[in-house]
Amino acid sequence: TTFEELDLIAPLQRAISDQKYTTPTPIQSQTIPAALEGRDVLGCAQTGTGKTAAFALPILDELGRQKRKASPNRPLVLVLAPTRELAIQIGESFATYGKHLRLRQVLVYGGVSQGNQVRALNRGAHILVATPGRLLDLMNQGFIELDQLEMFVLDEADRMLDMGFLPDLKRIISKLPRDRQSLFFSATMPPKIVELSRSLLDDPISVNV
Ligand code: AMP
Repeated sequence: TTFEELDLIAPLQRAISDQKYTTPTPIQSQTIPAALEGRDVLGCAQTGTGKTAAFALPILDELGRQKRKASPNRPLVLVLAPTRELAIQIGESFATYGKHLRLRQVLVYGGVSQGNQVRALNRGAHILVATPGRLLDLMNQGFIELDQLEMFVLDEADRMLDMGFLPDLKRIISKLPRDRQSLFFSATMPPKIVELSRSLLDDPISVNV
C-alpha cells in the first residue's frame, strides 16, 4: 500500500510528505483502511512499529472531514495512555500529523496542578489525550463529559494493567457512549487483555505485527 491509496484528506497527505514518510508501515497499511471505514481495531504492536500514526491518521481524517467546532469540556476523541511521557508523545504526534488542520487538542496527566488543564478543557477540545487517574479526577469534578465521544483509543493496554489501572479503566469505559469507534493497542495479549478487549470492541479487525 502507498499513502496515496489510503485516500486520506489532503491536509494529512501534506503532513505525511512534510515528515518524509514514503510508505505506510505494516500496522498502518493493515489498520488504517478499516479504521477509516469506522471499524473497531485490535492491534498487537510494539512501540516503534508506527502504531501512533495508525490511530492518529484515521482519527484526524474523520475530524478533518467533520469540521465540527470544539465544545468546551466535551471531547470527540479520547486517547488513553499509561504514562505522562507516552501521553506527551502521542500529543506531539497528533500535533505533527494535524498541523494543517485546525483542531484543538488537550493533554491531561497527573503530577502537575490541574488549573492549566481545566482552562484548556474550557476553551474546547476535539481530542483529549489522558492518563487514567487524572482523567477520572477531572471527570468527577465535572470538567470532562464524555457524552459527545465518537472515538476511543486505548494505547499500551498491557502496560496499563501492569500499572494497576484496571479499576480506573473500567470506570472510564462505563462512561463512554455505546455508539463509538474503539481502537485498542497492546504489545502483548495475555488473557486479561483479551477479556478487556472483548468488553470494549465490537467486531474488530485484528492485526498482529
Ligand atoms: P510509534 O511506533 O508510533 O512510536 O512510531 C515510531 C516512529 O516511526 C516514530 O518516530 C514515527 O515518526 C515513525 N513513523 C511512523 N510511521 C512512519 C512511516 N510510515 N514511515 C516512516 N516513519 C514512520
